[in-house]
Amino acid sequence: MFKHFHDLTPDDINVEFQTHTNQTDGHNSIREVLQRAHERGLRAIAFTEHVRRSTDWFAGFAQAVRAEAAHFPDLTVYVGCEAKALNVAGGLDVSDEVRDQCEIVLGSVHTFPKKFGKFDDYDKNDPQQVRRFAEIECELALGLLKYAPIHVLAHPGGMYQRRFGAFPSDLFREMMLATRVQNVAIEISSSYLVDVPAFLALCAELNPLVSIGSDVHELDHVAKCRDMVNYELRK
Ligand SMILES: [Zn+2]
Repeated sequence: MFKHFHDLTPDDINVEFQTHTNQTDGHNSIREVLQRAHERGLRAIAFTEHVRRSTDWFAGFAQAVRAEAAHFPDLTVYVGCEAKALNVAGGLDVSDEVRDQCEIVLGSVHTFPKKFGKFDDYDKNDPQQVRRFAEIECELALGLLKYAPIHVLAHPGGMYQRRFGAFPSDLFREMMLATRVQNVAIEISSSYLVDVPAFLALCAELNPLVSIGSDVHELDHVAKCRDMVNYELRK
């Protein structure tokens, strides 16, 4: 399902591997997202709904995705989920039952465990605190990579980038190297990346497995990452 950066063909890029629907915080139905994916000429799409260990609706959701997918024979449709890191030891907020139903599991950092405090506790005017934030996010991601049953590290450095701008390149490098060791894909995220050319340059240098994800929450997001990657690679 995932290729190393240097092996990517146009077909490999022509996918959308992070999608949310109105089952959680997305705005659209499965059908609407599939219709747009079809219109945008995508080859494959993964529905990667937000889940937690307590999620009890997943079986119905997975069934709905597979039923709707039958109306779009030109699209390869995957059932997946996005789960967050619970600690630095790779604890993942998903039940085995949900995981067993998924063809693609995204692991991401969405919050900090209590001992690190809240995001807002970090003062953006204090370089040491800003650096510490990046290090914690990296540590949580490394825990996922080493110990969690994930296929993709989703929006790496995303929490930092939403608050402080471009993520420190030494830590991106550390994460990317770890994805290589663990054979996990790292997501190219059109939604979170602040410095896309720098991230793609690092991909070109380290040649990790990559995933293409727009973090779709509305129809206009569908295929955004594909278009961004194609644009950057053509430059
Ligand atoms: Zn996410």
